[in-house]
Parts: sequence; structure tokens; C-alpha cells
Amino acid sequence: MRWIGFSARLLRSYCSAQKVTRYSTMAPIIDKVDSLIQSNRIMIFSKSYCPFCNKVKSLFESHNEIFNAIELDLMGAEGESIQEALIAKTNQKTVPNVFVNGHHVGGCDATVIASKEGKLKELLEGGPKEYDYDLAIIGGGSGGIAASKEAAALGKKVVVFDFVKPTPVGTTWGLGGTCVNVGCIPKKLMHKAALFGEDFNDAPYFGWEMPEKVNHNWNKMVEEIQMYLKSLNFGYRTTLREKGITYVNAYATFKEPNKIEAFDKKSKATEVTARNFIVAVGGRPRYPNIPGAIEYGITSDDLFSLPYCPGKTLLVGASYIALECAGFLRGVGLDVTVMVRSIFLRGFDQQMAELIGQQMESHGTKFVRGCVPVSVEKIQDGTPGLLKVTGKLNDGSEYVDEFNTVIFAIGRDACTPSLNLDQFGVKFNPSNGKIIADEREKSTVDHIHAIGDVIDGKLELTPVAIQAGKLLVRRLYTTSEVLTDYVNVPTTVFTPLEYGCVGLSEEDALAKYGPENIEVYHTHFQPLEYTLSKRDEFKSYGKLVCVKNEKNRVVGFHVLGPNAGEITQGYALGIKLGATKADFANLIGIHPTCAENFTTMDISKASGLSVAKKSC
Ligand code: FAD
Ligand code: NDP
Repeated sequence: MRWIGFSARLLRSYCSAQKVTRYSTMAPIIDKVDSLIQSNRIMIFSKSYCPFCNKVKSLFESHNEIFNAIELDLMGAEGESIQEALIAKTNQKTVPNVFVNGHHVGGCDATVIASKEGKLKELLEGGPKEYDYDLAIIGGGSGGIAASKEAAALGKKVVVFDFVKPTPVGTTWGLGGTCVNVGCIPKKLMHKAALFGEDFNDAPYFGWEMPEKVNHNWNKMVEEIQMYLKSLNFGYRTTLREKGITYVNAYATFKEPNKIEAFDKKSKATEVTARNFIVAVGGRPRYPNIPGAIEYGITSDDLFSLPYCPGKTLLVGASYIALECAGFLRGVGLDVTVMVRSIFLRGFDQQMAELIGQQMESHGTKFVRGCVPVSVEKIQDGTPGLLKVTGKLNDGSEYVDEFNTVIFAIGRDACTPSLNLDQFGVKFNPSNGKIIADEREKSTVDHIHAIGDVIDGKLELTPVAIQAGKLLVRRLYTTSEVLTDYVNVPTTVFTPLEYGCVGLSEEDALAKYGPENIEVYHTHFQPLEYTLSKRDEFKSYGKLVCVKNEKNRVVGFHVLGPNAGEITQGYALGIKLGATKADFANLIGIHPTCAENFTTMDISKASGLSVAKKSC
């Protein structure tokens, strides 16, 4: 709202319409108010005792801005008249009442929000700038979509750019990002497909008369999953439309600090300007720099829509993606090998990681440890064809085998190189191309933020991206100061026997608190459902890592067993709230479940007592 120039005239007519006599007494005050507003770059009508007035003064001080503040409560009757004149002028009854360069900003909250949004800066620099959008989001994945919906709900004009560059073999997909199309969702559904296989093996023990051979149809599974994913893509498009969010299916790149140029699949260009930007472009799988990798290998981006059964498969890599994919491929009956460069699941508790490996090995997954690929050659065309893989083992010897499919799962690169952001001052981690952002998800440029997988040093998980997007938008457009808490984030690796954890690994706890301060309570257990068939006997395991000199506060929760994701989600709340071992012991379990083992876990590692077999 701009008052300058016509404010006094408007107010005069307002007053005359209300009460002519009143205007005649107020006229000098109105002129005084206008004169104060026009002659001071920053004018604050304040009251000396008002904490909100002090807050806006501190805000301007923190920006090294000089302001003029008059304390209405110390001015007697004149102060009251000024306040009345301000009410008539701005319809605002409260103080502080802030004006910048003649523009009415508003009260404390409005000033704080204008500052966060960048509008205050524009007013200080001369006047509000006109943009096509309040907020432009690059990337319509988990983080970007969540942020766009939150901003639209707060009345902001939002545009989302999302574009999927095809993989080297031409795979592409719709709106929703990695999680929906080539990540969590198809992965969990394929995990479920594999679990059916295990249940079929157990079924006869429960009286089911099964055919001698149960077959899995890869194409049917892919078809059903892809149909479901298409419905999700459609749902996202509809939601954006219903919420008034503009969706542009084009690849965006920065042209100016506040201007994006985007190209659609027909190379048609669109340009938009926005006051604020959120970069939520995520990452894409990395290929090793070896002959044949890009030509003949595929990645998780291709696997979930692969139009033929992959056959004998090699997975290169030993983290989340490699182990999960190996788990479900083996589970649907394929011959699967995992090439492990060093350890399983770097960054995770290594005892748990090894237990996962052992369980997978016992179900037929082969591991080639201490090995990296050197080349991939095509032996035979086909769907699948036949590939020869040569690798180098740690002892220098050569590894050679033939596979129908080679899947690289060796990490992901941020989709930042073509954004052109370095040109406008955004800083990146040169080793991975991720954006350096502070705890407010702000990059090194004030109006450009980053969320999700593209932020350096943060967890690459869907709920993390969603939370960051929502909270960032609330901080930008409301008085909220709530930050995303990146600590104690629960996660689950969906290997056949799932591994859920929250908090520190045992190794990290020992390093942080010292061995003398750590007590680990643990147990192997046998899920009741597995007892009749003796499936995975006592391979399930749980442990609580506790800090002795903090009343045995639990700083690490780890579970390997069926439905570990469901178990971990619930217990994570306790860990976040600082639960101690005694709290776990005081909790009454739900019987018969796997989760109840955490309420009865009474053997410490230090005791040396065996936990190899413990029935519920
Ligand atoms: P993304 O979801 O990757 O979205 C980014 C979007 O931006 C993409 O659509 C991309 O095409 C688009 N884009 C990129 N550049 C541009 C540009 N210049 N212009 C326009 N659009 C652009 N997480 C979990 O929590 N649980 C799981 O079980 C899980 N499983 C996973 C399994 C796999 C195989 C993979 C690969 C990941 C998994 N993840 C899982 C991780 C999860 O998918 C990511 O953390 C999450 O999708 C990140 O969201 P995001 O919004 O940061 O990016
Ligand atoms: P990661 O970066 O976690 O792991 C990469 C793996 O590849 C490591 O085992 C690494 O070995 C190995 N590796 C790296 N380079 C080479 C090479 N040149 N040759 C051979 N091996 C190599 O990547 P992911 O792709 O598995 O996962 C990416 C992210 O996606 C995860 O961090 C996770 O946050 C998210 N995700 C989440 C899931 C979930 O929540 N369930 C599931 C899947 C993914 P080394 O240890 O030796 O470095």
C-alpha cells in the first residue's frame, strides 16, 4: 500500500466524511504525520514500553539502518492524536507503525515478514519491485512440491519448474521427483513383491497348499507399479492446479539473479521473474568413469520401469540403493551379485550392516568384496543382453563375470551444474556440486534457498526434504522461526530383513562419549511369524546405545527385523524426546511383537552374556 503523495488528501476527505469539526482539529496532526513519514527514510511510530516496537528497532539496527522513532506514549495528548491520525491513515490501531521511504510497511509482524521476504530491502533501496511470482521453485520433487503447496496456502503466487532429463537409455517419468517415480515408492513396492516370495515359502507351514513352483512375472509387476505411479503424477498435477500453483514442465536455469529461463522438451523457452527462489533439483545417479558404463549399464532411474526382467544382475555399490535393489531382485528369484568397494552402508552402524550382509548372503545374494569395476563390454544384444564385467580386487587380481544387467548404485550427483547459479554468487561444495546453505536453508545469496537432496551435508531422505520445504516457506512468509531439525532423523534400509535406526551408530557414540560412558543393550530375537518355518532363525536383532553418565539416555536405536521401518518411526519420538533406558524398561510392550523386545532388553554387551537365541 502506497500512501505518499495522496495520503493527506485522502485522510482529509475521510475525515470530512466522518466529522468536519474533527478534521479541523486533526489537520495539523495529519500534516505532521505526513511530514514525518516523508522526511524520514525509516519512520517508526512507537511506544516506549512496547516490546514489539523494540523488536522492529532491533531489526533495523541489525541491518545497520538508521531510523526515526517517536514514542507516542511520552507525548501526552499529541501522541494520542498522532495515533488516531495513523489509524485513519493506515487502518492499523497498534504500534509499531512502520513506514519505509514513504511506504506503509505495517506493524511488527508485517515488518519482520517483509524483511524475511526481501520486500523491506527493496523498499529501503527505493521502492517495491514487480515480479511475475513471489516464489519460483526449481524441482517438483518431494521438497519442491511441499514448499509450493505451503506457499500457495499462505496466499503467495508460486511457480514450479520440473523437468526430467532422460537417462542414457532414454527412461523418463512424470511430476513428483525421485521418491515417487524412481525412488521410495517403486522401491518399497518391489520390496513387497520380494517379501511375498518369502511368505510363499512359509505358507505351507500355515496349512496353505502351494503349487510346487510359484513364478514371478517381472513385466506384470512393473506394469502395475507404473500404472500406480502415473496416478500419483496425475494427482500432483491436479493438486498444483487446484491450489493455483503454476506448473511449468521445463528445464530451468538462472538468467539473472531474479530471472529464470526454462526450456521445454520442444526447446520452447519461458522466462519468469520472482522475488524468492527455492532450488530443489535433487540429484541423479552417478556412473563410474570406466569403459562401457554409460553405454551398457543402467541405474535405479531405469530399473523400476525396465520393460524386461533383468536376469542375472550385478549391482555395483554397497549402500542403501545397492543393497535394497539387490534384496528385492534376489527376492523375486534372480541371480544377484553385489560388488562392494569397501564396507556395507558407510555411515551406518557397522555391526548392523554386517548382519544385513550375512542375512542377504544366506538367501543367495553373492558379494564380491574389495572390488571395483574396470570395464563393461557387450557380449550379446537382447532384452536383456549379455555383458562381460571386469573388475579389480583389492589384492590386485582381476575379477571377471558375465551378467545380463549391470546396475550402478555408487552415489548421486546434485543437478546443479546447468543452473548457472555460481555466476550469481551461490556457493557449492566442489566435490559433489551440492549447494552450501545455512541452518535456514539459505544459500550464499539472500533470495535463493535450497532444500532436499541438493543441500550439502544433509540427509538425502524424502521426509527431510518435505519438512525443510514446509518450514522454510513458513519462515519466509510468516513470523515462524522454526528450523528443520536434522538431528535424530529416523531412517530405514528396506533390505529383505529391514534395518531401522535413529540416532548414533555404536561407533559414533563411542567416539563422541568415550567407551567408558557407553553401554549397549542388545538382543537377537525371532519374530513369532517366522517360528513355524524356522525362517531366518534369530537373525533379527536390536540394540540400544546408551550414555551412562546421562542416566543411560538412549542415543542410538537399531533394529533389524520385519517391519523395522514401522517400529523405528514410533520409537524415534522417544529418542528425540530424550528417553532413557529406564523409560524403555518402564514402557509396557505389545505382545507378541518384535517391537516389544526393546522394552525387555536387559543384557548389556559389557556383561558378555549371550543374546544369540531369545524367544519372545
Ligand atoms: P527430487 O525428488 O529428486 O526432485 C527434484 C526434481 O527436480 C526432479 O524431478 C528433477 O527432474 C527436477 N529437476 C532437476 N533439475 C531441474 C531443472 N534445472 N529444472 C527443472 N527441474 C529440474 N528416501 C526415503 O526417505 N525413503 C526411501 O525409502 C527412499 N528410497 C530411495 C530409493 C532410491 C532408489 C532413491 C534413488 C532414493 C530414495 N530415497 C528415499 C531418497 C529420496 O527419493 C530423496 O531424498 C528425495 O526424492 C529428495 O527430494 P528432492 O525434492 O530433494 O529432489
Ligand atoms: P551412497 O552415496 O550412499 O553410497 C554409494 C556406494 O557406492 C557406497 O557403497 C560406495 O562405496 C560405493 N561406490 C562409490 N563409488 C564407487 C565406485 N567408483 N566403484 C564402486 N563402488 C563405489 O549412494 P546410494 O546411491 O546408495 O544412496 C544415495 C542416497 O539416497 C542415500 O544416501 C540415501 O539417503 C538415499 N536413499 C535412501 C533410501 C532409504 O531411505 N531407504 C534408499 C535409497 C537411497 P564406499 O563406501 O567405499 O564409498
